Amino acid sequence: MYLVFDIGGTNMRIATSLDGKTLSATKIVPTPKDFEQGVQTFKQVADELTNGQKIKAVAAGVTGALDKEKTTQLTSPHVGGWIGKPLKGELERLFNCPIFLENDANLAALGEATYGAGAGHHIVAFLTISTGVGGARIVNQKIDENSLGFEPGHQIIVIDGSPCNCGGKGHLESYVSGSGIERVYGKKAEHINDPQIWDKIARYLAVGLQNTTVFWSPDVIVLGGSVMKSLPLENTKAYLDELLTIFPKPPDVVVGKIGDSAGLYGALALLNLS
Ligand SMILES: [Zn+2]
Repeated sequence: MYLVFDIGGTNMRIATSLDGKTLSATKIVPTPKDFEQGVQTFKQVADELTNGQKIKAVAAGVTGALDKEKTTQLTSPHVGGWIGKPLKGELERLFNCPIFLENDANLAALGEATYGAGAGHHIVAFLTISTGVGGARIVNQKIDENSLGFEPGHQIIVIDGSPCNCGGKGHLESYVSGSGIERVYGKKAEHINDPQIWDKIARYLAVGLQNTTVFWSPDVIVLGGSVMKSLPLENTKAYLDELLTIFPKPPDVVVGKIGDSAGLYGALALLNLS
C-alpha cells in the first residue's frame, strides 16, 4: 500500500493506492496551521485509510518552495507554521518508509502530464490558475530539471503594472489569478459575468501563454485551476494565435482533466519514478 498527500494552504488531500497506479480511498481535511497538529492529523487519517496495513512509500506535494534536499518547506503563502519544520523527517518517523516531497504545482503538472490532459505528449507546459498562478514544464513524464523551480505566474506581462502577491508588479498572476482579478475588478472571479472583462483576462493569459510557448516550446499547454471554470478558453486560444508570430502555429491549449486530484495523481507518478 502507498500513501499520497497534497498539502494545500486550505485543505489537505490524503489518499491510499493499492497498486501505486490508481487511487483508492481519499479524504480531505482542513490543513492545520500548526505543524505538530498537522503531523498528528497525517497519522490519524493514514491509520483510518490504511487500516493498519504496511505503507511501502509516501509522496506528498506541498505549497511554496522546498529546500534543495526536499526535506523542509522554505516558504509557504498560507501555512506559515510549517516553514522550516522537518516535514520529511517527521513523515519518516511516522511511516518508517521512503518519503518523497515535491512542490504542489510541480506535482499537479506531473499528474496532468501522466494521467490527465497531457498524457501522450512529450513536452507539457502546465499552468494552474487559482488563487495564484503556478506551473511547471514536464518532459517525458518527468518534472524538467530546474535550478530555482518554475514560476510562470511571475513573468512580467505589463511593465510597472498591477501589484502581485509576491511584491512584484505586472506579473501574469496580477491579471489572471483569483486574487489578482479580485484586486483589479473589486469582486471575486466567480461573480464576474461581464464577457468583456473575461475577454480582457483571456488576452492577458494569452500574453503569458505566448511567452511560455517561446521559452518552453511545448507540444501542449494544459490549464488547470478554479479560474479556468470561468475563463473563456476559445478567446484565449484566438489571442494566442494572433500574438504568437514566430512559430507557424501555437501548441494545443486544453483544460486539465483531473482537476483537484491532479496533485495526488502527480504524487503517484512521482512514486513510480522513484
Ligand atoms: Zn509575482
